[in-house]
Amino acid sequence: MQPCAPSQTPEVDQEALHRKYLLERDKRLRSDGQQQYLEADEEFEEFYTGDPHLPVEPREPIIGEVEVVVLGGGFSGLITAHRLQQQGVEDYKIIELGGDFGGVWYWNRYPGIQIDSDAYCYLPLLEETGYMPKEKFSKGDECFEHAQRIGKHFGLYEHAIFHTLIRSLEWDEEIKRWRISTNRGDEILARFVVMCQGPYNRPKLPGIPGIKDFKGHTFHTARWDFDYTGGDLHGGLDKIGDKRIAIIGTGSSGIQAIPHLARGAKHLTVFQRTPSYVFERANYPTDPEWVKSLTPGWRAERQRNFHNAAFAFYNPGEPDLICDGWTEVARNLAAKLNETNGWAALADPKKFLELKEIEDYKAMERLRQRVEAIVEDPETAEKLKPYYRNMCKRPVFNDEFLPTFNRDNVTLIDVSETKGVERITEKGIIADGVEHEFDCIVFASGFEITTALERQFDIAPFTGREGTSLYDHWGKGFRTLHGIMAHGFPNHFATGFVQGGVTAATTLMFEQQADHIAYIIKEAQSRGVTHVEPTSEAEEGWVQTVRQYSVDNSTFTTECTPGYYNSEGEPNGRSFLGDPFWGGFYELTELLENWRSTGDLEGLVFEK
Ligand code: NAP
Repeated sequence: MQPCAPSQTPEVDQEALHRKYLLERDKRLRSDGQQQYLEADEEFEEFYTGDPHLPVEPREPIIGEVEVVVLGGGFSGLITAHRLQQQGVEDYKIIELGGDFGGVWYWNRYPGIQIDSDAYCYLPLLEETGYMPKEKFSKGDECFEHAQRIGKHFGLYEHAIFHTLIRSLEWDEEIKRWRISTNRGDEILARFVVMCQGPYNRPKLPGIPGIKDFKGHTFHTARWDFDYTGGDLHGGLDKIGDKRIAIIGTGSSGIQAIPHLARGAKHLTVFQRTPSYVFERANYPTDPEWVKSLTPGWRAERQRNFHNAAFAFYNPGEPDLICDGWTEVARNLAAKLNETNGWAALADPKKFLELKEIEDYKAMERLRQRVEAIVEDPETAEKLKPYYRNMCKRPVFNDEFLPTFNRDNVTLIDVSETKGVERITEKGIIADGVEHEFDCIVFASGFEITTALERQFDIAPFTGREGTSLYDHWGKGFRTLHGIMAHGFPNHFATGFVQGGVTAATTLMFEQQADHIAYIIKEAQSRGVTHVEPTSEAEEGWVQTVRQYSVDNSTFTTECTPGYYNSEGEPNGRSFLGDPFWGGFYELTELLENWRSTGDLEGLVFEK
């Protein structure tokens, strides 16, 4: 593979841009923050529980008992099941709302779906299943198929309960079991519960006045209605040639679906509040020669290299193995430090961040110039330019999105001045006082990621010992041991962004957590105990450890344009990274390994 060159970036007036960034942020800040979004319940329940891909077969309720319940059959749940197997834990069930494994990759099949992150780092259990991704950025079906591959390879299907949504989780102290009820009338007792719901489990809707009045067709990108549009996730939407379609939302999902909607529809109107920053996709097929050259450990090295770019820095001489938009700023900064012999800046965090910020401004300006070069109408191009810092929002990668605005059948309506779409009516959408009529509105409005946990989990009651609600326990901030267990919630384990270590390949984080969880469950079983939980002192100790390493990035986040990354700009909003342990992802791996290696399970109490 060619070494990855720094990108050519223009000079910028940093101060003027900073002022512009703040103005653009203020334009979009809303006093209702996260409350602006509607939950997918009541008449919108189908946007969450409805399955457009596979009919839900009737079945009798399950009344029974199992040792471990894994909540969710996406990559996190699959990795957890694999690790449980490795530890010899055999009696477990994976309860999943979808009709198959895959999680987000089961549900999200909108046209154009493709991962935005290096597949070689992201797709889990590659070596174990003997699979190599077909290209750098896998399409959605390859990800879904990989989830199925993992399921088949490790015999996980026999443990699955599909098309089932856990509705309540209650610890019963008398019998030392979790009581689990589901939307299928099941009553299941489980000794252990592992939460693997992932951050993108539940779609949300924009709380636009009149949203319930629209008489035309609607759906959410996460539950795409191909019966209505025709085609499949590769495109070919051949049923909407006579339809006027609106799409609300231009985040990762909207960006990918828009080119396909434009090709299929009579007319497409894109309602945009904040433009995404759109990198070149520059996808490529996996090179067989490169595959032949790989030696054991290649994947761990690649993941660490990605981590350095995203959450730390390249060391002198370290190549950029990822070489895409995620790593552009780090790569350019490393080139600058090389050129100026300035590596000493690494020892001075303030100086380092200043130098990084310069590269950030320049890279974002390069992307704004990219918009200008592609979009022919200057007014439309201006509306599509992102004015905020790199990583204020999730980067997107697309070669078809910007050219879509050169089509005659596509209109862009900028709704930033009204902080979002003003109103929905029976017939369509009002913007700037004008009603636009549509046959269909597509909501590309994202997921319950940083909204209240009650909304995200949608599980109630969710209670531990003495009937304490998890939502209350975490009401003033997360309280865990190692981001995984909480005091008062025996035999309960969390995966995901809660007081853990963050890294660029999310599935690696799931692996780190699953290793720890499976080990604790196996230990509990082999010690013949009925329940295990952290002491309140151990939990408080971890809270203090997390606090000790916490990084004050509030200036960065508050200056960002609103979005779920900064809890819509709420002053004390929860980070989507869930109050992480900033002591370092690999440092946390070591800490957990050391903790396990003593065999003492320090901080946990076991009861027979
Ligand atoms: P999102 O990033 O949360 O985007 C929601 C969109 O809806 C934003 O453009 C938002 O505008 C817009 N919106 C919300 N309320 C609005 C209103 N009242 N009026 C007008 N516009 C409104 O959701 P997403 O695109 O589904 O992506 C969510 C996350 O899922 C991504 O960040 C990514 O982590 C993951 N994802 C990944 C992939 C991939 O890897 N390929 C693909 C899809 C999703 P504002 O920006 O102004 O709020």
